[in-house]
Amino acid sequence: MADEESWALEADKQETVTAKIQNLNIDSAAAGEPKDGANNAESKEDDDNAEKELNAEQNSLMRKLIHDKLVQNTQTQEVQQRDPNSPLYSVKKFEELNLTEELLLGIYAMGFSKPSKIQETALPLLLANPPENMIAQSQSGTGKTAAFVLTMLSRVKVDLPHPQCLCLSPTYELALQTGKVLEEMGKNMKGLQVAYSVRNNKVRRGEKISAHVVIGTPGTTQDWINNRAFDPSLVSVFVLDEADVMIATQGFQEQSIRVQRKLSKTCQMLLFSATYDEAVMNFAQKVVPRPNIIQLRRDEETLDNIKQFYSVCSSRDKKFEALTNIYGVLSVGQAIIFCATRRTAKWLSQQMCEGGFVVALLSGELDVTQRAMILRRFKEAKERVLVTTNVCSRGIDVEQVTLVVNFDMPLDMNGQADCETYLHRIGRTGRFGKSGIAINFISQERDRDMAVLKDIEKHFGIKIESLDTESYEDMDKKIGDK
Ligand code: ADP
Repeated sequence: MADEESWALEADKQETVTAKIQNLNIDSAAAGEPKDGANNAESKEDDDNAEKELNAEQNSLMRKLIHDKLVQNTQTQEVQQRDPNSPLYSVKKFEELNLTEELLLGIYAMGFSKPSKIQETALPLLLANPPENMIAQSQSGTGKTAAFVLTMLSRVKVDLPHPQCLCLSPTYELALQTGKVLEEMGKNMKGLQVAYSVRNNKVRRGEKISAHVVIGTPGTTQDWINNRAFDPSLVSVFVLDEADVMIATQGFQEQSIRVQRKLSKTCQMLLFSATYDEAVMNFAQKVVPRPNIIQLRRDEETLDNIKQFYSVCSSRDKKFEALTNIYGVLSVGQAIIFCATRRTAKWLSQQMCEGGFVVALLSGELDVTQRAMILRRFKEAKERVLVTTNVCSRGIDVEQVTLVVNFDMPLDMNGQADCETYLHRIGRTGRFGKSGIAINFISQERDRDMAVLKDIEKHFGIKIESLDTESYEDMDKKIGDK
């Protein structure tokens, strides 16, 4: 018992430490006074260090906040059924699922007219009787949360005053996000109650939780169970959300397994993750016996329909000039400009604003909510140019971008070409058959940039053409559309 309590305490400690680290980032960012001008690797370290601390949880929350709509693409879906001989049903309509009218109304009120791609296959398996276990993996924004929330709600019996569904999330904020969806979808279910087992929601000795659904973080949930606030053996649906983020947090894996062991053999176990790596799968297999497995793989990022160029610019001011010239010949839908440091990003966005551009700046001193707000505005095309640093780019999933500019080349910790980041930055453009343009700025005084460019060409087996941004003729010929 004492041992188990220490787990719970440890988790709370962790949450506090995470919060402190986040604050530290913000403080150190604010303290980082700009040194004299250069956007070089030397100044990169102090400038970008704080941003590197963006952890899996923060990224995950940011994606949740950005995705107020389904992510649509043409992923391939792989399904491994627990019983390979049973027929695989998929549904095209929510009405085919035998849901109660209250739930259907809740779904309609959320604006869902038909199941998302993963929901088409997952929901018939999730709602089957007798219940079956599931591991589902697909990128953020594809409809996983809505699917498991619907499953929980469809199994709740409102007249039974005890927790019947339990959902573990890696953070306080993510738990509340899920709760919000559940409360919205279940708003027509009279008497439905949700309890949040998250930090600061301690239960008093002898207190009993009567809510139908418990959503929380592993530490506090374990605390509740240890204090007998509810009986885990009466839980009929157990959800582990954001399993990939969960295992990135030390201790959560073990805690989740401990909670899972207290559940009954007939409890339906569900695990959701946005990534597919081996660590997640190993964890999944430990918590979810005999699962159906659904994976929706995201479209491969390719460089096929993206025209790539480089332009040699002798200074930061020249790079800015080049950028202005590009806008002179090209009608850009939306653009993302990547800078090596926060300082350069700030400088550039100021220059661009003064030059009459409507620019959004996304950089590391912002907290998750602020970043999400900026990205949402950009997604809605309220700003046409997004200036950002490398670290922030991971969370960006904006598909309508037609121009990507590497104001500084992507480098890894050792100052070598970072090809993965290059692909990730450039792969944002030219989606859905639209052709995109990527322009790399090379600083003349640095041979290194040229070597980096060559390494990128070699890595992807491509040729990156030169673009003379001081010659309208050259630009007009190669990228012009005005
Ligand atoms: P995930 O958990 O995979 O990140 P969510 O369930 O949070 O995805 O869904 C992402 C967004 O899409 C949310 O804004 C959600 O309301 C919306 N959404 C989910 N399912 C549907 C659907 N069937 N039709 C329309 N929108 C949906």
